Amino acid sequence: MQAAIRIIKNFLNPADAFMELVFGVKLASKKEQKGQGKKSEEMEVDNEPCPMCREKKLVLTEREEDIPYFGKAYLFSMTCSACKFHEADVEAVEEKEPVRYSIDVSSAEDMKVRVVKSSQATVKIPHIATIEPGPASQGYVTNIEGIISRIKQQTEALKEDEDEEIADKARKLIKKLNRIAWGEEKTRMIIEDPSGNSAIISDKAVVEKMKK
Ligand SMILES: [Zn+2]
Repeated sequence: MQAAIRIIKNFLNPADAFMELVFGVKLASKKEQKGQGKKSEEMEVDNEPCPMCREKKLVLTEREEDIPYFGKAYLFSMTCSACKFHEADVEAVEEKEPVRYSIDVSSAEDMKVRVVKSSQATVKIPHIATIEPGPASQGYVTNIEGIISRIKQQTEALKEDEDEEIADKARKLIKKLNRIAWGEEKTRMIIEDPSGNSAIISDKAVVEKMKK
């Protein structure tokens, strides 16, 4: 249960020390009640105070999932229906070493490659985009297509930018991302994670230990 509490703590600002404690205790007790004799089930706590807007509209979920070639992992999320605050993260049940994965993305088939990305990970697609870790960074289990479509979504907003140069760059980047998704353009994806809670799950992926 320690891992769950740690993650929930990471979600919140240091100023919310009291609330961290409340979440930690609540999650732990609820899990014990529901977890009798059963493994891997979803746990949900609702009507919690939101750390952003303070409304009691926050839903916390925790789920244990067995991810092939990665191992068992905890998936967490916090979603506020009042202010749309959302955070999510993933953490391996077993402690992992800092890790660096890279993969050549060269076909539409590669879009299906499964990716585990924690909030601590840096995701790089050279000359295209870098997803940095930080307070706004989310953790999730997806595939390469999922990462590309997230970058695309963020770029969409810039298409209508007043600055014509930015708008033009955004349009070109979206075209490039589409070509990658269709397998018409090759690229590379690199994930570095000092927490070890990330992975690119493919025989094609190159795994290296990352220096701390
Ligand atoms: Zn809220």
